Amino acid sequence: MDRVSSPEGGCFIRDDGPAAGRVAQWAVKAFRPGRPVRDALLLEFFRESVLVTGVCLGTLFLVTPDVSPARAAGHLVICAGLALYGSIRVARAARRPFPAAVRGFRTVTRPTVVVHHDPAVEPLDAVVIALLCERELPLLEKAFGVRLRYWRTRRPRVYVFPSAESVEALYRQPFTGFAEAGIGAVILSGADCNPELVRHELAHLLAHKAYGAWPVKVVTEGLAVWAERTYGGSAVHDVAAAIAGRSRKPPAELLPPHWGDASARRLWELYAAAGSFTGYLIGRFGWPAYRRFYRGMMGTERAFRRRFRRRFGLTFEAARDDWLTKLGNGELTGRPGRDSFDPE
Ligand SMILES: [Zn+2]
Repeated sequence: MDRVSSPEGGCFIRDDGPAAGRVAQWAVKAFRPGRPVRDALLLEFFRESVLVTGVCLGTLFLVTPDVSPARAAGHLVICAGLALYGSIRVARAARRPFPAAVRGFRTVTRPTVVVHHDPAVEPLDAVVIALLCERELPLLEKAFGVRLRYWRTRRPRVYVFPSAESVEALYRQPFTGFAEAGIGAVILSGADCNPELVRHELAHLLAHKAYGAWPVKVVTEGLAVWAERTYGGSAVHDVAAAIAGRSRKPPAELLPPHWGDASARRLWELYAAAGSFTGYLIGRFGWPAYRRFYRGMMGTERAFRRRFRRRFGLTFEAARDDWLTKLGNGELTGRPGRDSFDPE
């Protein structure tokens, strides 16, 4: 649901080496400043209304080919009215969590994603973020085996705020990103944006779209961190091994199934442990088995434990002990592919 502030943080153009350089060059070519968010939404109303009206009228003529012109005109008015009303409702719902916060935002529209950004975010950075989402989304869609479109036509939205502080002001939690699966949107801090953050939040949206309800944290955050491919630029197993070796915490404290409020540093460690544990499970049982596990209802810790034992044939504690032993012995290596979650 969220992405904790990394102690490293940083802008991806600065931190991500040659790959980011290529994205930046690509962005310069595609650069067009965004239009105000209100104009973009109006254009969307229009596009979706025309589409829905066309589908309704097409169906009408298929069902009754000899319909009279007066009746067809009546249907046209009703369909157009309903389509416009529906699209306005949808667009309003998409802005409901933070209508005031995004009022002055500008919009960059790409074929697979729509980015709304605060005017304080550099327009070129917003385009880079849009292109980054556009690059990572099909790869993640392939890994999940699901397409991220809402009501068939609506592209996922990305709201870019200038900094982690502005995201924190909105959610009152120390995060640089959030996934709002209910409205098909992710919220990012522009200053902290990097490919890991983008993949993390898009993975949340895809997991929710593919599997429904939110399970316990170790499952949701574990998969989203594993989907990042690296954690703060390093392999997630290496980060988790360093944390486990340094902290010497008992397993129950190092990786509980669920966690609530905690300091940013503690959350950062929990995310790394959950990501590594998820990678271990996918490596041991395979991605298809993990998907089947993820698909069930396990919003409570009890339901999670029961499902874990039924699907993997051992208790969560036994799997966690085995993971820790392998982590300590340096047996866990590799990271997921760009379009697959099995370890490479
Ligand atoms: Zn998350």
